[in-house]
Amino acid sequence: MSMHKPLTDSVTPEKKRFLKQLCASLVFQKATPSSAPKAYEYLSYKFQHNPTYRAWLTSICPPKMLRTLRRYKGSDEIPVCPETPKGTSIRLYRAPSPTEQQAKIAADNVAEQWSMFLAERNIPTMLATPTLCVVFVPEGMVFDVDELWSTFLREDLLSLGSLCRSLLPLLNLSKLSARGFSAPEILLVSGGMRTFMCAWFLRTYDLVKERLTNRQHKLGSEDLSEKEREKLQALQDKEIEKYNTHFQRRWKALRKEVDKHQDKLNKQQNKIDKLKKPSGKKYEKLLKELRRLQQQEPFPSSAWSRLNTLAQEEQFNPFCVIDKELRANTAQYKEIVQTSKKFHRKAADQLNHPRGDIFASMLVELLKAANTPDEACLQTIPSMFSTQPFAPPPRKAGDSPKQICFVCGAYMEKDEPSFELRRMIFTSPEQRLQGSPNPKKPKCCISCVTYAYVCGAKPTEDTTIIKIIPKNQQTQHSEGDTQQIGRILINKELNIQSGPYLLLGCKEWLSAKGGFKPVSASVGALAYAYYRIARDVHPAALEHMQFFLVERGQEIPLSNTRLFWLYALLQASGLSIEQQGKLSLPVSQIIRVLLADEYIESQYIAAKHTTLPTSFPMKMEAFWHSLSIIFQKEKDMSTQAENKLSEIELIAGMTGLLIPFINLLKRKLSDKGKKEKEIHREMAKLIENCNDPFLWNYNFASHKEIVFKSAKLFKNSDSYFIYEQTKRLLSNLPQGIDTAEREEVNKEGASLQINFDDVLASYNMYLSDNLNRQQRKELTNKLKLSLYSRFPSVLSRYK
Ligand SMILES: [Zn+2]
Repeated sequence: MSMHKPLTDSVTPEKKRFLKQLCASLVFQKATPSSAPKAYEYLSYKFQHNPTYRAWLTSICPPKMLRTLRRYKGSDEIPVCPETPKGTSIRLYRAPSPTEQQAKIAADNVAEQWSMFLAERNIPTMLATPTLCVVFVPEGMVFDVDELWSTFLREDLLSLGSLCRSLLPLLNLSKLSARGFSAPEILLVSGGMRTFMCAWFLRTYDLVKERLTNRQHKLGSEDLSEKEREKLQALQDKEIEKYNTHFQRRWKALRKEVDKHQDKLNKQQNKIDKLKKPSGKKYEKLLKELRRLQQQEPFPSSAWSRLNTLAQEEQFNPFCVIDKELRANTAQYKEIVQTSKKFHRKAADQLNHPRGDIFASMLVELLKAANTPDEACLQTIPSMFSTQPFAPPPRKAGDSPKQICFVCGAYMEKDEPSFELRRMIFTSPEQRLQGSPNPKKPKCCISCVTYAYVCGAKPTEDTTIIKIIPKNQQTQHSEGDTQQIGRILINKELNIQSGPYLLLGCKEWLSAKGGFKPVSASVGALAYAYYRIARDVHPAALEHMQFFLVERGQEIPLSNTRLFWLYALLQASGLSIEQQGKLSLPVSQIIRVLLADEYIESQYIAAKHTTLPTSFPMKMEAFWHSLSIIFQKEKDMSTQAENKLSEIELIAGMTGLLIPFINLLKRKLSDKGKKEKEIHREMAKLIENCNDPFLWNYNFASHKEIVFKSAKLFKNSDSYFIYEQTKRLLSNLPQGIDTAEREEVNKEGASLQINFDDVLASYNMYLSDNLNRQQRKELTNKLKLSLYSRFPSVLSRYK
């Protein structure tokens, strides 16, 4: 492994904030011709070593600045900052975050997307916490939160593009509900959402049609026997008949609804017409009621008569109705048809269309939504951010729960639209409410339902949710940082990012009774999260990022050291968690011992099961080295890390003391013409006895002709770390060994002479004094595992 260079972290959060302000003000003011190049140079200089900040900069800066950035070769001179940023910082309060996990994820996602939206408009976020965000507004810019918020909803959050980036991959990736969705009702909050749902329905429709057409073709083939043909024909007729009947029934019910509604409208209109003069309080009241009725039409009136005629003409055959409607209105359906092609079969199958009359209801909903005018779709959703602090929601005494949002607790006015919790939006929409014996679907407000709907990170059986936060900034993060890391993961595998959350789809499936089950369900979410991040994330990201597993309302931090070590073991051993539909026991065992911070034991397990035995020690050597650096960094923070580090160094040093003798034995036995099997047995015997140096002595003595008083440890690519540690152990011995005298450097490299007396002295010094029996046993056991890991070929005998 080529180790990455540590990144120079010279940009402090304060400096970064300053640079963001400078950048925003320069871009917004379109900077003066002379100051702009200097400013770009200055920023380039500041950002040259930091890929994360560079990524942020490239996400907001105009093409001209990007070119300068790319051309920038670095400079010995520190460029001078050309001017100070012009603008003001504005505090925006964030609406209280819901506590329900899924709603919280959804709200965080919206908040992050909002920050990105502002950044694109030259308004960088300086600070973002769960309750507050501070933005920098360049001088001369008009900043109106409510105005920006409605643009954000329309053009960003609820747009078709945004849904295709977040929700679509989720539907294509993972089954949201084991039983599928039933009787869907289209949530019309924006034109984008309407198109998205219609496209989803249309895709399902296309697949059903395709299946029926294929069957029809099969009926025409000559390979079928008469009996088979009859059977298949009956099946075909039955299915088509079912769709026709249901569609007819559904349509007639709709017609009744439309007639009833028309009746109501007429009556209301009559009441108004009967009034003597069209003004006054009574008139206003009646008119208001009429408007309300008009808004509640069961089907868009502009398209009703056309479609009603069509349905009757086609004798309620849903396939003819839909096909004709699509052909007659190509422009209107163009976007829906195009979008429907992006849905995979998995997404389409999530709609449980074969059950009951779901297919028919779905098609009616499709016709209804596709004919709803754009302006009727866009609902107002109150801004999540405000320059004024949010007051607690006003609650009247004795409110029925109907008027309180179950998710965020906001009070809903009677005429405000409210929604039932649905499986599409929340995994468990059925809740047992206070004082109610049966679980019910509680109501929630339009904000909660919309945010939850658009969020791509929804917990499902085969997905794991991870939260990513830049290190040392756990309470504040900025747009772009987590996006950058998310992109690394997304590029590698199909995962979904929603704000700071990342949804990992489980790729590995195990054969189980009655089908398959995801590995994540078998090893547990925590183990799987470790596995996937270790496998997919470049270790450089671990330096900057902190990962959390989001599960059952908790955020469990993942240890970066364990992640790194697991990465190393997976790389060096070539093991993966699933093999031919079976769980790889070594990998799950490795993760289990790592969760207990048993680094050496996990290495032993990897060596034992490694598929690349010869290169294992060499690769591990590089990782040992990096691991010690990580621990070194953590050392200042925790005594636990310090203990781990000294333990790892001690085991490495002791390993280095013993390896030369094992190698010596191996060479001598080989010279004597012993068989490989026998040599391995003798080596294993020696390793097994490493808890007692006198037993070693005895072991050697049994091979009378071998001189074992001293041996040489060579420094090379698979021993440079242990070599240094062995040297350190020797020089710290009370005997005062001068390691320079023992070391020999020639053109083949360095080597260290080790006498058997050194081994005895080291056991005395490091593995006996100040240790109780149990501690000694644990350490020598680790030493044994470490020695075995150095000789995987010996281990393979004992697999
Ligand atoms: Zn709510």
